[in-house]
Amino acid sequence: MTTALLKDSYGRAIRDLRVSVTDRCNFRCFYCLPHGEPPAGPKDSMLTYEEIEFAVSVFVSLGVEKVRLTGGEPMLRRDIETLVAKLARVEGIRDLALTTNAFNLAERAAGLKAAGLDRVTVSLDSLRPEAFREMAGVDMLGRVLEGIRAAERVGLTPIKINAVIVRGHNEEEVAEMAAFAREHALSMRFIEYMPLDSGHGWSREAVVSGAEIRARINERFLLVAKRIERGSETATRYRFADGAPGEVGIIAPVTEPFCGACSRIRLTADGQIRTCLFSKVEHSLRDVIRSGASRAGVADYICGVALKKEPRHYINETFFEQPARTMSLIGG
Ligand code: SAM
Ligand code: SF4
Repeated sequence: MTTALLKDSYGRAIRDLRVSVTDRCNFRCFYCLPHGEPPAGPKDSMLTYEEIEFAVSVFVSLGVEKVRLTGGEPMLRRDIETLVAKLARVEGIRDLALTTNAFNLAERAAGLKAAGLDRVTVSLDSLRPEAFREMAGVDMLGRVLEGIRAAERVGLTPIKINAVIVRGHNEEEVAEMAAFAREHALSMRFIEYMPLDSGHGWSREAVVSGAEIRARINERFLLVAKRIERGSETATRYRFADGAPGEVGIIAPVTEPFCGACSRIRLTADGQIRTCLFSKVEHSLRDVIRSGASRAGVADYICGVALKKEPRHYINETFFEQPARTMSLIGG
């Protein structure tokens, strides 16, 4: 591990950068982007691949080790493989990953691997075609499953699967999804529903807590907490007591917040740094880069922004207000 130069004012080292490459998405997950994207801004408001590469290389020189490409749907950005190849050459990245809805992963997994991507996280909320369609707003379960198989085949591993669990939609299915993890030796991540949906449909009642998810899985497969340093990881990780392959991760930002160990920072597709998913302010790295600042100047700017990282989120406070930008515009 390199010495962390990027620290916030609470002493947390920033090691994990999430880069959104587009606001566009071809799915309509009801908990994210139910009514589609807002109209796109001018084309030149988006960071170019060269600008992203430069920004990432500065973050990495400051101690960032993990870089995740996300969106929107990152595979909709043209020639994403070109960006992957550029980032794969940045010295110091320990983990280069991409989060995708997998609609075209089957065709592109090999190319992504060849470009230097380490692994993928695939979003998959249900294994039942009807529930999948109802949650994602599109009828693509088959393609997503094909995408997962292709990613396995080409070695974009370890593959993580993200499932957002929402009351009345898929909470009855969590043990079935744990069985899928066992069968395919996958890491299945169950995520609590957060108030970041563009439809503003979130309610506390719709949140299925991490504790309930754990209990539901335990009824069918006994889980044992993995004895590993959790560090800044979002998930609490479990193995199956009977030694079956695969693992379960539970990400419970609402009922079991993990802000105290957060190591994440985000860059939006239009070049704004967000220090928290729930930030109310953004910092325009794009303007700094385009002003012609030197590498050292950009690094200083990033260090200054990191110091403004919020101590925690306030989802559970009565004064909580959803941020103006929602998940697909921030980069999950
Ligand atoms: N389109 C890609 C995908 O779906 O994998 C990448 C972007 S998506 C915003 C990243 C992750 O955020 C997905 O796994 C998605 O399930 C999660 N997500 C979106 N809205 C959420 C919400 N309201 N609460 C919790 N997770 C959410
Ligand atoms: Fe699109 Fe991903 Fe949001 Fe679903 S979760 S609407 S696939 S950005």
